[in-house]
Amino acid sequence: MRRSLVVGNWKMNGTLASAEALARGVIAGLDSSTDVAVCVPSVFLPGLQTVAKGTFLALGAQNVADKESGAFTGEISASMLVEVGCKYVLVGHSERRTYYGDSNASVAARFCQAQSKGLIPILCIGETLEQREQDQTFSVIDEQLDAVISAAGIAAFANAVLAYEPVWAIGTGRTATDEQAQEVHHYIRQYLALKDQAIAENMQILYGGSAKPDNAKGLFAMPDIDGGLIGGASLDADSFLQICRSV
Ligand code: PEP
Repeated sequence: MRRSLVVGNWKMNGTLASAEALARGVIAGLDSSTDVAVCVPSVFLPGLQTVAKGTFLALGAQNVADKESGAFTGEISASMLVEVGCKYVLVGHSERRTYYGDSNASVAARFCQAQSKGLIPILCIGETLEQREQDQTFSVIDEQLDAVISAAGIAAFANAVLAYEPVWAIGTGRTATDEQAQEVHHYIRQYLALKDQAIAENMQILYGGSAKPDNAKGLFAMPDIDGGLIGGASLDADSFLQICRSV
């Protein structure tokens, strides 16, 4: 049985004070029934480490360097993230791929760096609207997965999470239908099963893209959807908790 997981992506929002208040609000509504994490701006991690200590809220970062250490101005290494209490880290979020040029190769290197220090990478994959309209959804998914499988090996996916995020649904208010999301989640699981059946069956595959309290239940009820990666709706404790309770 796969456990459900709901992850908030706070992106570049808030102040340290508002971040701590939001984390406290989320923590107040959590119990052990669902795994819940928030991926927060890295500078807030030390403060949130104190707030989240001994609670059911796990912490994550939104990106990690593709190198271990050294002269890489502006980057944050996997070991630094471990030191400030991270369990998870997003890799390959579409905003990183689109605005900051993270390529499949650099995403794969970030995935490997994260795992080398014991972080659980949440590998984000998904097609743009143009790619969907040109029937390229599955080939885009294949390429994004293959880059990481060839760098890290399929066995590495035993300690990773996948997030299917159709780019056209992120932050747009336009959600994939339950069936559209399920179709791609099922495809991803089948694709992994061609390489390793057990890994595929145990893989947590989250849906991301304008998930909200009113559509989360339907999405999470789909057989291959194991939870969500939540952007906008994770910035409000009540909305996020409602989504967490929908798994
Ligand atoms: C995301 O940023 O991963 C995301 C899914 O955002 P939103 O929920 O706002 O679409």
